[in-house]
Amino acid sequence: MVDPKAFLESGLELHGHKCPAMPLGLRAGAIAMNRLGVGRSGAKTLLALVELGDDHCAHCFGDGVQTVTGCTFGKGNIKQLGYGKFGLTLVDKRTGRAVRVVPKGEAQMQTKKTPFFTEYRMKGVPPTEVPEEVVDPLIEQVFSSPEDAMFTVGEVFDYDMATKEEDFSSFVCERCGEMVVERYGRVVGDARVCIPCQETMLASR
Ligand SMILES: [Zn+2]
Ligand SMILES: [Zn+2]
Repeated sequence: MVDPKAFLESGLELHGHKCPAMPLGLRAGAIAMNRLGVGRSGAKTLLALVELGDDHCAHCFGDGVQTVTGCTFGKGNIKQLGYGKFGLTLVDKRTGRAVRVVPKGEAQMQTKKTPFFTEYRMKGVPPTEVPEEVVDPLIEQVFSSPEDAMFTVGEVFDYDMATKEEDFSSFVCERCGEMVVERYGRVVGDARVCIPCQETMLASR
């Protein structure tokens, strides 16, 4: 069994500061590994799909996932799906078995109401400057809370590597004329556009 807490030190070293989201990623990753009965990915035996977007709260989750699963940016076996969510799907590429683990929304919202967020992070204080006595209890809580209070763990399922590895569907953005992979398309009014064009169009409204 993988013990997420055993990876706290190396996680902090990689991540650079104390926060509750990196340990949340450690625990989510460990739960997924234990469900699949797999060890850390030394080579590319595992694939991690994280639903994180960009520039949002608790993004640090991804570093916890990388630390414990060994699915890393450098090895290219972690993918960011860009949903702005916190689900982790871990795939054992040798067997095609996979499981999705996601922190419970209610638990995450509770954490956002604690002083770490309300008194420090949301007031612009960098995480490196939050006092340890504020953040340490949150980290402890991530490891000590019952699993079912913190996470929803899906059934182990067969991940279809073939269809999900390469996606050939695409269209041409009606605003910039560049090709976009189908599922990254967005609709603004009646125009079908790419994500950067959507952002520009929404900002100029
Ligand atoms: Zn962090
Ligand atoms: Zn475009």
